[in-house]
Amino acid sequence: MSSVHIVGAGVAGLAAAVRLAGTGRKVFLHESSGHAGGRCRSFHDSALDCTIDNGNHLLLSGNRSARAFLEEIGAGDTLMGPRDARFPFVDIATGERWTVRLGSGRVPWWVLQADCRPPGTSVSDFLSIIRLAWARPDATVASLFGQTGAFFTRFLEPLAVAALNTPLDRAAAGPLWQVFRETFAHGGTACRPLIARDGLSDSFVSPALAYLDANNAATCFNRRLRVVATEANHAVRLEFTDGSIDLTRDDTVILAIPPAGLNALLPEIPVPEGNHAIVNVHFKLPQAPAFTDESPVLGVLNGIAEWLFLRGRVLSVTVSAADALAEKSAAEIADGVWRDIERALDISDEIPPYRVVKERRATFSQTPDAMRVRPGTLTGYANLFLAGDWTDTGLPATIESAIRSGHKAADAVKAAH
Ligand SMILES: Cc1cc2nc3c(=O)[nH]c(=O)nc-3n(C[C@H](O)[C@H](O)[C@H](O)COP(=O)(O)OP(=O)(O)OC[C@H]3O[C@@H](n4cnc5c(N)ncnc54)[C@H](O)[C@@H]3O)c2cc1C
Repeated sequence: MSSVHIVGAGVAGLAAAVRLAGTGRKVFLHESSGHAGGRCRSFHDSALDCTIDNGNHLLLSGNRSARAFLEEIGAGDTLMGPRDARFPFVDIATGERWTVRLGSGRVPWWVLQADCRPPGTSVSDFLSIIRLAWARPDATVASLFGQTGAFFTRFLEPLAVAALNTPLDRAAAGPLWQVFRETFAHGGTACRPLIARDGLSDSFVSPALAYLDANNAATCFNRRLRVVATEANHAVRLEFTDGSIDLTRDDTVILAIPPAGLNALLPEIPVPEGNHAIVNVHFKLPQAPAFTDESPVLGVLNGIAEWLFLRGRVLSVTVSAADALAEKSAAEIADGVWRDIERALDISDEIPPYRVVKERRATFSQTPDAMRVRPGTLTGYANLFLAGDWTDTGLPATIESAIRSGHKAADAVKAAH
């Protein structure tokens, strides 16, 4: 029986392993840390005495690869969100509140209705999204839309910064078009905002590990890959911190690790350079607040806080492209964000217990230059394939991209042997 060695147990590696388990190959999943999930995981926080996610993760109902993965591992019912596609916003500078309502249909008729759009925007603003489709490869989001006006500040900016985690004067337009094409272009049916009901690990990680275990895949933690030995166009040996594995001619390898790690192992494969931070602040409130408009998610404009996520008594705040913020102390960040929450939710309270999580390398910097060097699934080595949110899926670096890359790598393994 041939073996497939998948290195990296983030959602890309998990998706590849799940696709390949039980297909007549022995599947090994090797992970350098002591847990799976990578940048998409939950952990018990002793200060808050509850389980929190490393960061809030928003999916859309049109994320077909992520939803297929959840169905595969038996966790299809673990996401939650409003009945239809709606995004409540508050502008804490002016006190205005509105909800972008995309309804539940397959055609985006909602743009024709003024009360479904952010105030001050027009139908032609929304039609201008088509500029993304014809954008040149070196176009940034800001170069196509400028950075002023209600459409930009009240719709495009909050969504695009969250999707691309890159300042919009540097963020590539191409992946944003892919998001619109796969979600907004299909109307509200593909745009329901979804979050993991009980936490990221309960949705994406634990059920995947259980599936792998049930299908005789071996998962090995605390095992860092240090060297990939190659001969001609084949990988021949994997050297880990705790020993080596010689590969037979039929064995295959999927490297599902971040770009810097790949570069250290195989410098001949070009990878995108640079990362941006995402900062999350989790507050444990004395009781669950009355939140907005049936949605567990609230967009905040003109503050430090960008998106609020509510799960029970834990109110979590996400700030993307947050490199400068991540340099501040946890106390300073929590204090500033709490003041935004008070205005957003119209409350006035002492700051509750909190945890600040700074993910300094949350995603790669998604610039036009980076897009040019995103590698595909195949490498110059016949038995070695790549996966990861940063590989060339056409999508921004998201769960959807990571899972799609894992599926593509699994398909490549099947095609190879
Ligand atoms: C705070 C935050 C918020 C986010 N918000 C969203 C969101 O709202 N929506 C969304 O869709 N996405 C979001 N993302 C992005 C999403 O988390 C990532 O796209 C996805 O988790 C990437 O998965 P991956 O498997 O490609 O990479 P990773 O999760 O980085 O997995 C790589 C794995 O490889 C392991 N590894 C590395 N080197 C080695 C080695 N040499 N040997 C063995 N193992 C190794 C690592 O330990 C890690 O477990 C967010 C990310 C962060 C950090």
